[in-house]
Amino acid sequence: MIDCLFCKIVAGDIPADIIHETETTLAFRDINPQAPTHVLIIPKEHIETINDITDEQQALIGSLYTAARDIAKQEGLAEDGYRVVMNCGEKAGQSVFHIHLHLLGGRPLRWPPG
Ligand code: 5GP
Ligand code: ZN
Repeated sequence: MIDCLFCKIVAGDIPADIIHETETTLAFRDINPQAPTHVLIIPKEHIETINDITDEQQALIGSLYTAARDIAKQEGLAEDGYRVVMNCGEKAGQSVFHIHLHLLGGRPLRWPPG
């Protein structure tokens, strides 16, 4: 058993504000939101970082983006715009080592990020 916060959310052992679910993905609100809408979209399967994604998981990774598309619509962000980002490794700001897409919106977002 991997000691992973997001696996525990998938298992229902740790509560989360879940807003979207598919066969392969789960999405819930970030506990420390950086924008009016800040949702984390994760594969239910444990993958530590982008570096660990296998060729066989291409469809699974694609399903994170189709979930993002549907959630953006659900949250009313599709027209105005939103950002989807995945950090890889500590230097990029990854703090939970179970891959997740951040979906951010509801305020102007500057580029480049810090
Ligand atoms: P990372 O820094 O790895 O890209 O993103 C991890 C995100 O997970 C952070 O934005 C952080 O606020 C969020 N987070 C950390 N612990 C929890 C938790 O227990 N519940 C929820 N919903 N989000 C969390
Ligand atoms: Zn995990």
